[in-house]
Amino acid sequence: MIVMKFGGSSVADAERIRHVASIIQAYKDRQPLVVLSAMGDTTDFLLDAADEAVSGTVDISNVEALHINTAKDLNVNDSEIFCLLEELKTLLTGISMLKELTKRTRDYLVSFGERLSVRMMASYLASQGTPSRFYDAWDAGFLSDSNFMAAELDESVWTSIPLAFKDYTSGSQKEIPIVTGFIAKDVNGYITTLGRGGSDLTATMLGAALKVDEIQTWKDVDGILTTDPRIVKTAHPVEEATYEEAAELAYFGAQVLHPRSMMPCRRTGTPVRVKNSYNITSPGSIIVEKHTKEVSPVRAITAVKGVTLYDIVSTRMLGASGFLAHIFNQFLKWNVSIDVIATSEVSVSLTVNSKKDVDGLVEDLKKVADINVKKGKAIVTIICDVKRSSAILSSCFSALDKEGINVQMISQGASKVNISMLCEETEVHQVVRILHEAFIADALL
Ligand code: ADP
Ligand code: ASP
Ligand code: MG
Repeated sequence: MIVMKFGGSSVADAERIRHVASIIQAYKDRQPLVVLSAMGDTTDFLLDAADEAVSGTVDISNVEALHINTAKDLNVNDSEIFCLLEELKTLLTGISMLKELTKRTRDYLVSFGERLSVRMMASYLASQGTPSRFYDAWDAGFLSDSNFMAAELDESVWTSIPLAFKDYTSGSQKEIPIVTGFIAKDVNGYITTLGRGGSDLTATMLGAALKVDEIQTWKDVDGILTTDPRIVKTAHPVEEATYEEAAELAYFGAQVLHPRSMMPCRRTGTPVRVKNSYNITSPGSIIVEKHTKEVSPVRAITAVKGVTLYDIVSTRMLGASGFLAHIFNQFLKWNVSIDVIATSEVSVSLTVNSKKDVDGLVEDLKKVADINVKKGKAIVTIICDVKRSSAILSSCFSALDKEGINVQMISQGASKVNISMLCEETEVHQVVRILHEAFIADALL
């Protein structure tokens, strides 16, 4: 048995859906379970429609046209799709009247994207003589907490998922399950989402809970690439990565996988293959527990923009542990998570996502420290074997120094696979290009 997950770009229109259906049919003998994202940019469209509804305009013409035209083009029964589109319009009308949008309502609203796409694919596959059945995540055992827009799956999914698919795993159900990615329900029955890109997590959770042979995530690139191909055109696929490397890569900005998606498969050791639905013969990247062959010290380079640096210097005689305890407590109080950190006895530099800047936090920190807040920063991360960190850092600094770039903070992190550094946001693409050239294109080490 395998899980096959197709992202939005893989199911963007009728032609892509036909193509994906042919990939699913080609893997029929391996008893696939399919996970789908919303078609194309539907999630973005829905979020925009929500904002417009709050300001009084109800308009989902693009989502409606995409789904109705696709259903027509594929010549499938569109009654399910039509029903959902009506429900969506009613919801948006409600939002436009109330002029209010909670996180809970936003999750309910974006859930329509995935619910529409699984219905479309199941109808199309059935029309092509491949019996299939669509599942909304809650009918597939996906229970989450109530942290809307970034929900965590409940531990009980490890048993509820196998229960939901027992007929399929036993072989008595012949229809291929087509499951919505990205969404779940909480104990009160409210729809939640797992954070942007969450369909990857749906796929790995499903695969790990069902102990499948392989989880495949089909994208529009040839696998995990050595860096973001939109920054460096010559970025190339990494043949093999570990769960830890893939998790750090996602956490430090590579959009290719959801940051929490490695957690379930790491627990069971289920391999994850990242493949290209536009280039099916390419082997893609395989993600496993440990490297099975010799690899170069630097695997990939990632970047995150929109970072704020807090330089915090103690003004009280708290001692190092008291000082740090106080600082971390304030971040906890304001629910702001820290990404990269460097400390000394009396000072600490740390970075947070700029969207998480909170005035109250700075005020609280000022009670025991001098604070300098610097916006407009970026974090560049080298995913590498940190046992080789001295050599890597020395090559890194000499390459950046040659181009006159100054790195402002550096952190090796607790994991064994990343070195992160802070630079100006305006220089981030240049830094990525220089490091890619130094470590990957030319393989200096
Ligand atoms: P999907 O919707 O199929 O999940 P995403 O758009 O979320 O796909 O992720 C794939 C995209 O991630 C690629 O098109 C690519 O532009 C971007 N990307 C950024 N960094 C990387 C990387 N290191 N490797 C592969 N893709 C990357
Ligand atoms: N459709 C959702 C998003 O765009 C989930 C996903 O694609 O994984 O974020
Ligand atoms: Mg994605």
